[in-house]
Amino acid sequence: MPRHTATAGHRPTAPVPPHDDVVRLAAVSKIYGRGAGAVRALRGVDIGIARGSFTAVMGPSGSGKSTFLHCAAGLDRPTEGTVTLGGTDLTALNETELTRLRRDRIGFVFQAFNLMPSLTVLQNITLPLRLAGRRPDRDHLASVIARVGLTDRTGHRPGELSGGQQQRVAIARALVTRPDVVFGDEPTGALDTMTAKQVLGLLRETVDDLGQTVVMVTHDPVAASCADTVLFLADGAIVDTMAAPTADRVADRMSRLGAWA
Ligand code: ADP
Repeated sequence: MPRHTATAGHRPTAPVPPHDDVVRLAAVSKIYGRGAGAVRALRGVDIGIARGSFTAVMGPSGSGKSTFLHCAAGLDRPTEGTVTLGGTDLTALNETELTRLRRDRIGFVFQAFNLMPSLTVLQNITLPLRLAGRRPDRDHLASVIARVGLTDRTGHRPGELSGGQQQRVAIARALVTRPDVVFGDEPTGALDTMTAKQVLGLLRETVDDLGQTVVMVTHDPVAASCADTVLFLADGAIVDTMAAPTADRVADRMSRLGAWA
C-alpha cells in the first residue's frame, strides 16, 4: 500500500497525513526493580512506526528488545514516557481497557506459536473474535485462511500440524481481527530455515497486499532483511536504524554492536 508523499504531477485522491504512525513511543524509559538493584531496560526511546510498514527490532542479548516489544504492545507499562497505538494513549488506560485493546487491535505471533491444543485450527483462528463477542466475517475469515494456506486443515488440531503450519495458524489468528499492528516475538525462532523463509514471506505479503503493519523482534539477520526498516537497540536505546536492509549489512551492524563477540 503506497503511503509516500505525493510527487509533482501526481495528486493523491486523499491527503496523506504527515505522520501516519500507528505506534509511537515518546521518551519511553523502563526501569525494573528499584534502588541499587534497579535495571534501566529502556532509556528515552522515541520512535514512530508507520502504518503499513514492516519493522525488525534487533540488538544484543539484554539490549531491551523484549521490553521494547512489551511496552509497544501494551503488555508492560513504561516507567516514563507515553505509548500511543492508533491514536490511543496506552499509558492512560486501566488494565481492563488495555486487555480489551490488546485483544481487539493487536495481533501477536510468538516463537512457541501459543495455540490452544484442544481447539481445531478454525477454533484457534477465530478465538480472538469469540473472546471479543464478535461474529466472524465469513469472507474475511475465508480469505485469511486461504492466505495462510490452511483451507484444507481447518478441522485439524495443532498437534497434527508441522511447526510451520502451526505458525501459519498463529498468523491467521493474529490477522483475523484486522489489527492495527501485528507484533512478532522471534516468530521464526523455532523453525528450520526453509519454513522460516515461508513464514517471513507470509508476513511480508500481509504488509504488501493487506497494508498490515508488522513489528518483529528477531536475532536473525536474514529475517530482519525481510523488513523495510531495522531498529538496532543497544543498552536500552535505539542506536541506529537501517532502511532497505540486507542480511549482510544487518550482520555487520550487529557485529559492530558486539552482538556476537
Ligand atoms: P533483550 O530482549 O534484548 O534480551 P530484555 O528487554 O529482555 O532484553 O532485557 C533488558 C534488560 O532488562 C536486561 O538487563 C534484563 O536483564 C532486564 N530485565 C528484563 N526483564 C526484567 C524483569 N522482569 N526484572 C528485572 N530485570 C529485567
